[in-house]
Amino acid sequence: MCLCHQAAGGFERFTLQATSPHEAITELDHRYQTVKKNSIFVDDRTFPNAPASNSLVMMRSEVMDRRKLFVGTFYVAALSGCQGFLGRKAEVAGDSVDSDSSVVFSSVDFSDIRYQPPTLFTTELTEESGTWVRRFAGQAAPQNLEFLNRADGTWVKVHDFYPNSADPFKINPNLTLGPGGFNLAIEDRAQAGIVPDSNLIPWALNMIPFGVAIDGVILDPSGPWFDGGPADPNNPFDRQCSGWEYDPLFPIIGDLLGVVGAVGGHTQPSGLFHYHSYPKLMIANLKKSLEGTAQQNQPLLLGFSADGYPIYDCMIPAAATQKKKKIYFFSAYVLREGARQALPNTNPRLVPPGNYDGTYVQDFEYNPQKKMALIQSELRTRGSYRSMRAAEIASGAAEFRLLDRCNGFFDAELILPEFPQPVYAYVLTEDWPQIPRLLNFKPSESFRNNIIPLDARRGPGRTAFYDACGTEDPHEVHKLKGRERY
Ligand SMILES: [Zn+2]
Repeated sequence: MCLCHQAAGGFERFTLQATSPHEAITELDHRYQTVKKNSIFVDDRTFPNAPASNSLVMMRSEVMDRRKLFVGTFYVAALSGCQGFLGRKAEVAGDSVDSDSSVVFSSVDFSDIRYQPPTLFTTELTEESGTWVRRFAGQAAPQNLEFLNRADGTWVKVHDFYPNSADPFKINPNLTLGPGGFNLAIEDRAQAGIVPDSNLIPWALNMIPFGVAIDGVILDPSGPWFDGGPADPNNPFDRQCSGWEYDPLFPIIGDLLGVVGAVGGHTQPSGLFHYHSYPKLMIANLKKSLEGTAQQNQPLLLGFSADGYPIYDCMIPAAATQKKKKIYFFSAYVLREGARQALPNTNPRLVPPGNYDGTYVQDFEYNPQKKMALIQSELRTRGSYRSMRAAEIASGAAEFRLLDRCNGFFDAELILPEFPQPVYAYVLTEDWPQIPRLLNFKPSESFRNNIIPLDARRGPGRTAFYDACGTEDPHEVHKLKGRERY
């Protein structure tokens, strides 16, 4: 989750006279025909040094192609509720170009890694009055893996990416999962043999971490919220409840938050590093550790969810399946088409402008039929979908399946090595949402309150979020079927 946000590097700064964001958008559209409707606007109250009361700082969606944009004059812009950081940022917000600004975090990829034996969490499973409880211990920080940066051929270390021009916080290596730390525990529903009913109403994350990855890093995919209202420097993202959540998987949003693509995460003010996406660097290192072992041919455990289920990798090796066919799991989400409009559980008065393009979580819909057609079409026209090749499917060596809306599955024929009987499991997928955005059951208390307390010391906590989306709002925004705050 992103408690603190700031933009840096490559954002073009415009000063406009406008009485409302809407007027400004209209004016910008008029002046810059290429401006995409999904630009984000904030007014100058988050910018102490900004010149005029109605000046706007704009991120353009074209920022994704920063190499082109850097030809002109661009200014560092801060977009933040983090006062301490803002002060320093505002100094550079004048006329200088941030020296880090050539790093497009979302596009950082690797071509090789220096293998390190993985450091993994440990868990302890106990039965307590009929309930299985799994407790976690270990470091709540990523390993300092070293990788060959594909862009420039240099070896870089994970921890050296933080702080960066968009993420001012160092990774805190002293945070821990166990006693004295987050004290994480889940009710292990998989161990108890509980399979979620497909008619269950899922639980929205509502800024609560989804789970914990096997390397001890918290899986916390939530992004800031579109609010469309006047700025509140202490709580810039929840001042009005729209029901639309920016998705840090979208390159422009990830870059704003310093989410490094290969690593898949960034830090919070506390130094808590967390994953927003499929952590491919960590998984590549983990897979290397299994080369030549029997585990290599088993489903790969990647963590546990806050509601008590294991999380696996999206490819199940052939040797582990009944039919001796590799299984690829994909999500059943697709982008909606056309212009954004009010959706269930969103506020009809605050619909972000523009077309559905993935800027927001709500830009995606669960649509297995459409997803199936999309994958088939990719296999036909490109010969592959993600890492699955059409030839594997054609030869019968592999098959693929779509997951439920929580990005999970239950397969009575699939034995997952950590459990005595077939269990329901979640999957980290290569395709959106990568980390699931819905839980089947209420997340455990320790995930709700130990990692990010209801009222965070810095940045908006869930109380502010719930208050913004409170009961006075007739639209029940963010709350599925009127569920109380949790
Ligand atoms: Zn975050």
